[in-house]
Amino acid sequence: MSERVGEAAHAPAFPVAAKRSMANAQLRRNVRHATDVIRNKRGKVVGELPDWEALRESAHQIKEHTLRHLDFYLEQFEQACVRAGGKVHWARDADEANRIIVEIIQAHKQAEVIKVKTMTSDETRLNPALEAAGITPYETDLADLIVQLGEDKPSHIVVPALHRNKAEIRKIFREKMNLHDLGDRPEDLTDAARHYLREKFLRVKVGVSGANFAIAETGSVCVVESEGNGRMCVSLPQVLISLVGIEKVIPTFNDLEVFLQLLPRSATGERMNPYNSLWTGVTPGDGPQEFHVVLLDNGRTKVLADTQSRETLNCIRCGACLNACPVYRQTGGHAYGSVYGGPIGAILTPQLQGMEHSQSLPYASSLCGACYEVCPVKINIPEILIHLRGKIVERGDAPLSEKLAMKTAAFALSSSSRLSGAQKLVRIGQKPFEHGGALRGLPGMLGQWTAVRDLPPVPAESFREWWAKRHQGRGK
Ligand code: SF4
Repeated sequence: MSERVGEAAHAPAFPVAAKRSMANAQLRRNVRHATDVIRNKRGKVVGELPDWEALRESAHQIKEHTLRHLDFYLEQFEQACVRAGGKVHWARDADEANRIIVEIIQAHKQAEVIKVKTMTSDETRLNPALEAAGITPYETDLADLIVQLGEDKPSHIVVPALHRNKAEIRKIFREKMNLHDLGDRPEDLTDAARHYLREKFLRVKVGVSGANFAIAETGSVCVVESEGNGRMCVSLPQVLISLVGIEKVIPTFNDLEVFLQLLPRSATGERMNPYNSLWTGVTPGDGPQEFHVVLLDNGRTKVLADTQSRETLNCIRCGACLNACPVYRQTGGHAYGSVYGGPIGAILTPQLQGMEHSQSLPYASSLCGACYEVCPVKINIPEILIHLRGKIVERGDAPLSEKLAMKTAAFALSSSSRLSGAQKLVRIGQKPFEHGGALRGLPGMLGQWTAVRDLPPVPAESFREWWAKRHQGRGK
C-alpha cells in the first residue's frame, strides 16, 4: 500500500520549515496581503446572508449523514455514472490511482494531458508518474500553471500561487514562455497565459480533472472555478478522467444548493463562482466521448474509522481556515510540507499518511479557534488537533519539551507541600525576569514561550497561604 500526501512524508518538521519561511520577508508580505484581501471580501459577502449559520449547519448535517452512509452513496454514484455512460475505477492508494490514469492515457496512445483543479493529483503525485511514463501534463488553472512553470510547490489550497506577486509571475512567464517583451499589467499576464493555454486546449486529446462534488443520485461530477479554463478542460478533450476523493460524494442534486452558496463566499469572497461545470456520463456528439472516474481512498477510510476525527473528511477545500489562521498567515503553506497547508492540512495530512510522518503538524496551531469560526461545514479543527496530539502522546512521540514539562508538572502538582515548595522557588527565580507585570525573556526552552507571549508571574502569595493567614487571624 502506498498512502501518501505528495512529498509530506519526507518534508522537514514544521518548526524547521516555518523558521525558513519566516526568514523570507517577501513571501510573508505576499501571503499577508493575499489573505487580507480574501478575508475582507469573505467577511462582506458572508455578512449579506442572514441565514449563514443555518447554511453552515445544513452543510454539516449533509456531510455527517453522507459519511455515515458513505458505502451506500459511493455505490449509488457508481451505478448512476455507469448508467450515464461513464466508467468507474476504485483506487486504494496513490500508486493505484496513478497507474489507472497512466493506463487509460496509454490505451489511447497519447503523450500529453491537460489538467485542471486536481489537488488530489498533487496528493498522489500524478505529474511525476505521468512524466515517468513519457506523458507531459499541462496545468491549466492559472495559479497551478504559475506553480508548474516556476517549478514551485502550491502554497494554498484555493490559490496555489498565493505566495507569488505580479513581478515574480511576470519573470516566470517571460522565461518559460519565451516572451521577452511581456508587459507587467495584470491583463498582459492573463493574455500570455491565454495564448499559451488555448493552443493546448485545442490540441490535447485527454483531460484530467479533480472534483469539488460527486453527486450520488445522478452520477454527476462538479467543478467550480473562476477562469473558465476548467470548463474548457472538461469539455474539449475526447477523453476525460476525473480523479475524485471518496469524501467528495454528496447524496442529491438539491444538496448542491447549500454548498454552492457556501463555497464561493468562503473561498474567494464571491457570491457565486463564475463557472460551475457539471457533467454526467457521455453525451454522443457533445463533449468527451469517453469518461472515467477514479475514486480514491488513499487513507480516507482510515480517517472514517476514527469517530473523533472523521469530520475532517467534511472539508470542501475552501481555504477559509488558512486565511484566518494566525500561524498560516506568518508561515505560508510550504512550511506544512504538504499539498494541504494551514489548519486543515495540520489535521488531514497526518491522518491520511500516518502520524509517524507528520507528527509536528498537529502542533502547528495556537488553538485560537479562528479556523472553526470560519469553516463553512463547521469542522471543529481545534478539537481534532487536540485529539491528534493525544494520539502522539499515546505513541510516546510527544516533543521532549512537552514531556519534560508534563513530568515536572505532575511531580509538583501531586503533593501540596511540593507545590508550595515549587511556588517559593519560582518566586525567587522569577524576580530578574519580571517587567511590567509579566515575565519576559526567560532562559532556555521557556524563552520560546516568552518570545511570543506574556507569562504572568507566580503571585506573591498563593490561595492556600492567604486562606491560612485569614483563618489564623479569625482564630485569635
Ligand atoms: S476545514 Fe473548513 S474552512 Fe478549512 S478548507 Fe476545509 S471546509 Fe474550508
